[in-house]
Amino acid sequence: MKPMPSVTEERTYEDITYIRVGDDTPTHPRGTVMFPQVTDSQGRLFTVWGYPRIRRIFVLERGVKRYFKEFPFFVEEKIDGYNVRLTRVAGRLLALTRGGFICPYTTEWASVWAEHMGLDEFFTDYPDLVLCGEAVGASPYNVQRVYELPPGLHFYLFDIMDTEGRSLPPERKYTLAAQYAIPTVPQFGQYSLTRLPELKDLLLDLNAREREGVVMKSPDGERVVKFVTPTSDLADIRDNLILMYDVDSGYFLNRLLRSVLFVQEFGLDREEYARRIGEAILGGLDALTDFRGAWEEYHILVRNITTWHRLRELLAGKVRTEELYTRAVLLDGRPFIQIGFRRVFRKSTKRFRMILKGYGHYD
Ligand code: ATP
Repeated sequence: MKPMPSVTEERTYEDITYIRVGDDTPTHPRGTVMFPQVTDSQGRLFTVWGYPRIRRIFVLERGVKRYFKEFPFFVEEKIDGYNVRLTRVAGRLLALTRGGFICPYTTEWASVWAEHMGLDEFFTDYPDLVLCGEAVGASPYNVQRVYELPPGLHFYLFDIMDTEGRSLPPERKYTLAAQYAIPTVPQFGQYSLTRLPELKDLLLDLNAREREGVVMKSPDGERVVKFVTPTSDLADIRDNLILMYDVDSGYFLNRLLRSVLFVQEFGLDREEYARRIGEAILGGLDALTDFRGAWEEYHILVRNITTWHRLRELLAGKVRTEELYTRAVLLDGRPFIQIGFRRVFRKSTKRFRMILKGYGHYD
């Protein structure tokens, strides 16, 4: 067994004890979760490996040539939600966040998903495997782009991870997903350099439909790169400018660079993009004309109010949250509680207030 990493924290979730790895270590990626009271089917410490980081390419053609050469690769849509790993531990379906916390909110939703997906059957047949996917919709972690989806939180599988933290080959994953009725992110099939013009058309179409981009994966599941659209980059700029003092400045510069490189590589209309880049910036700071604070608003749906209380405790470790309302709602005829809350970004709130009151700063 590999030695235990030192950047660990022991936590409990109900009666389950777990150890989360809070940062990358030479042996364990950030977000790895170990369950000391549980073993896998080989009798080893039950470990859910951290979801690996995905390398981003900034230019499509040269990126594809560099990473896939003349070999084929699978293309999937990169959808915008938050990363979730589903596992079954001691008979309980659990949802882990990217950072390695058991999320009470997503775990509650996982039991809803299990009613129409074969999650229980999957974990009965493959107890050691982990289902990695994007949770989209009523997210408590990031403000979501608009997908035409019914209210609630939705799960789309994009990887199945084995006991070593490796992803299964995409084709095996698609087969298992179909077999257990687990919805996947949209699959665009196999491409290679010879079909580059079609891949470019696909990206233009995603850009026009305001989608985030693609993730490209080799048939053995080992090589993975992501490439995103300027529409999504500009939307990120617009939505986050009002939080600018709480966000790393590289966040904006990187997105500007990516948008410009896309416009150049795909020969997009300069005037249109000059306008769109300008609008992202002007629109992003519109809130300064009537500034009350730098915050994001969330609207989530829980079955039990205790789920909200436990989620709130988890969020409190990171940001200040303010509850706006709670109300009873029906979803598909079933009772839920909708909760509105704000994540307040202190630095940006303070700095913008000072600026707008006319205070001067030394640069
Ligand atoms: P990274 O994961 O590379 O550290 P990040 O946390 O900033 O970067 P993103 O830039 O959003 O995340 O890109 C990676 C994330 O995209 C994955 O962690 C996953 O949650 C999400 N994702 C959405 N669709 C897919 C897909 N088809 N395949 C893999 N990941 C996907």
